[in-house]
Amino acid sequence: MSFNFGTFSNPSDTILTLNSPNTAFAAWDDPQDTTSNIAPVTFRVVSQNLIQTSRVFKATLTGRWKEGLLTEDGGNDLEAEGWDSEAMRIVLSAIHHRTRDIPRRVTLVMLCKITVLVEYYELHDIMYFFLDLWIHSLQDPLLKAYGKDLILWICITSIFTSTNIQRIVTNVAISHCPGEFRILDLPIPELVANHINTRREAALRQFIASLNDIKSKLLDDTTGCSFECRSIHLGALVKYMYDERLLDGVTEPPFEDRSVADTVKRMRKMPSPSKDWHMQTSTYGSCELSLSSLTEAALRSSDAIQDLELDDVDD
Ligand SMILES: [Zn+2]
Repeated sequence: MSFNFGTFSNPSDTILTLNSPNTAFAAWDDPQDTTSNIAPVTFRVVSQNLIQTSRVFKATLTGRWKEGLLTEDGGNDLEAEGWDSEAMRIVLSAIHHRTRDIPRRVTLVMLCKITVLVEYYELHDIMYFFLDLWIHSLQDPLLKAYGKDLILWICITSIFTSTNIQRIVTNVAISHCPGEFRILDLPIPELVANHINTRREAALRQFIASLNDIKSKLLDDTTGCSFECRSIHLGALVKYMYDERLLDGVTEPPFEDRSVADTVKRMRKMPSPSKDWHMQTSTYGSCELSLSSLTEAALRSSDAIQDLELDDVDD
């Protein structure tokens, strides 16, 4: 397959060959073989357009001129590898001002493929309008579950900064990621991945600490009305922590197979023993202690989940 971006008045002078096009992109399951057997795709391009829009192309092309690495016919061929050929065609259409060849809507995967090219060739300025248009057409509704699409969104918004969308998708990842955050070989900055992992682990660590804190208060008699009240709540709490694999030494960072949202949901469903064991503490009422009230108070005071909007998010 071949594309020509030259015109009569501005003829192409460079061939950009895309070798092994369309290799696996953001593979969720490890593919056995990521190489592509598809024939190379060639793009006849105008070097001046590439130089004016991309510092990466400029460095390659002008560097070669300086070094006299031109081909015999005066051309200066370029090579690329593995990119998606359609994403490359769209980007080159923008570089050559062929806006009628650029689609008004693209899929989320295509948007991410284009964004990765924007990052690699430093095409932020020339692609700004189109990225903005595509992001707006795809952002409603935004994802509320963890999966490949969410990771694509995090990649897109970390390259093309859209603060509000980035905050939303990052929070969904912190809430719903069931282990270490996966970047799927995408150019997601380490800072972003570290932020998600750190916030997620801090929240889970805080939950476990709050359960241990309740356990300590029942053990040292600082809560509960009687020996029976404290013992039965303590027993139920330890049983819950055992069932949920939350006892000390059983689970530790990165807390695999456990999400923040799911842990909160399950803590809220923690069974509490019957109230028959409470003593009458005054003529007006009896002890109101329950595990659900203690855990709810701990969750409400947890600063690690303050801005995560967990109630609005379903698994
Ligand atoms: Zn009691």
